Amino acid sequence: MKYSLRTKLTVTYALVALICVLLISILSNIFLENQFRDYIVTKQEIQNEEIAKQISQQYIEDGDWDVASIENIGLLALDEGLIIKAKDNNNNSIWDATVHNSGLCTAMLDHISENMTSRYPNWEGEYIENSYSLVKDSNVVGTVEIGYYGPFFFNDNELAFINTLNNLLIFVGLFSLFAALALGYVMSRILTKPIAKAVNFAQSISDGDYTLRIVNKDNTKELLQLTDTLNSLADTIQDNELMQKRLTSDVAHELRTPLTTLQSHIEAMLDGIWKPDKQRLESLHSEIVRITKIVGDLESLTRLEEGNINIHKEKFDLTNHIKNIVTGLELRLKDKQATIEVMGPEVYLEADKDKLSQVIINIISNSIKYIGYGGSVKISLSETDSWINISISDDGIGISDEDLPFIFERFYRSDRSRNRETGGSGIGLTIAKALIKAHKGTIEVKSILGEGTEFLIKLPK
Ligand code: ADP
Repeated sequence: MKYSLRTKLTVTYALVALICVLLISILSNIFLENQFRDYIVTKQEIQNEEIAKQISQQYIEDGDWDVASIENIGLLALDEGLIIKAKDNNNNSIWDATVHNSGLCTAMLDHISENMTSRYPNWEGEYIENSYSLVKDSNVVGTVEIGYYGPFFFNDNELAFINTLNNLLIFVGLFSLFAALALGYVMSRILTKPIAKAVNFAQSISDGDYTLRIVNKDNTKELLQLTDTLNSLADTIQDNELMQKRLTSDVAHELRTPLTTLQSHIEAMLDGIWKPDKQRLESLHSEIVRITKIVGDLESLTRLEEGNINIHKEKFDLTNHIKNIVTGLELRLKDKQATIEVMGPEVYLEADKDKLSQVIINIISNSIKYIGYGGSVKISLSETDSWINISISDDGIGISDEDLPFIFERFYRSDRSRNRETGGSGIGLTIAKALIKAHKGTIEVKSILGEGTEFLIKLPK
């Protein structure tokens, strides 16, 4: 059986309240009532002694008593539920409540018995008498027997007090129970509302709608974490989906042009329009080389993005290594009558030599591509306590502000038609960035259109 969070919370709150109320009621009933009974018994004893003392004061002398005052005391005591029988030393009655008004005594005892059975239905009380000596000036002048409904009894005021206390406890108990139920319900609503929202949101993600986001105004830490996580999950899935769609369309786009050229040229040769001479075959060959390069670049990029990238670090002289790379590119520099300069101290670096070469060659090649005749490329190296900086700058055509934020994205080329002539696929910098990231470094670009471009690579030592 599955229960909602709301039901569980409400029931739990109510149960906790019920247990607390029961415990408080039982304990307070036992302790308070016991305390009250003890108080009543003690009070009774003190009252009896006080009555005996008051009657003793009514002894005049030579066996004479102020009977009228004793009667007053006796009648007041009767009001309190006490039956007084005062006797002198010769056991002669001085004043006896039962003789004075036997009916009233019986009525009083019946009334008290009723009080007690109304409070305790199985009450087994009985009439008991206690005897006290009457002492005047250190002489025993008689005895008084005080009879009452025992072992203890509540008069009307006391009964009213204990009943009010009980009713108050019942009221507090019921009130707490309702308050707990209401609070549990409200609390569960507060908690379940954002959870239900999160569940619906997760459902919409699983149904393929990644565009929605949850706004959570709740101040519960865990719920905020939950909605934040779901929102960033939706962001990631949406980005991935977008990337996947873009990749497919970009790949199709990139491959279509060379394939169409190949197709039309081969068809022209098959139809006898063109002769398959060396020049034409070379042109077909260069298109195939382009396609192979794009596919190869894509393959390495996929491997890099999947994290399947093995970095084999070795310590080497970076300055010298860059100088060697530059020597390898001299032919291309000569074509443009361009100059290249490597500046900076001898810097040693621990990194994957081949992969770092790939990055540097890509950036320098781009610079050579985009500088004019007689242009220049400058490479400068520097180091701090924990970083090695490589700056590669050129005075080439530069990159416009609109293009600059995107040049590390795959297939991004600032000028597609021109770029096709230069043979670029727009993947080189994407790969470069992934390789630098795999070294836990960073790569940044600064450029001014028409003035030049600078790439700044930072690698940890
Ligand atoms: P490509 O293979 O097309 O050169 P890259 O990813 O290496 O691809 O470069 C992406 C784009 O960034 C290039 O097409 C070019 O538009 C721009 N770019 C890169 N380096 C430079 C540079 N030094 N000067 C001007 N533009 C550059």
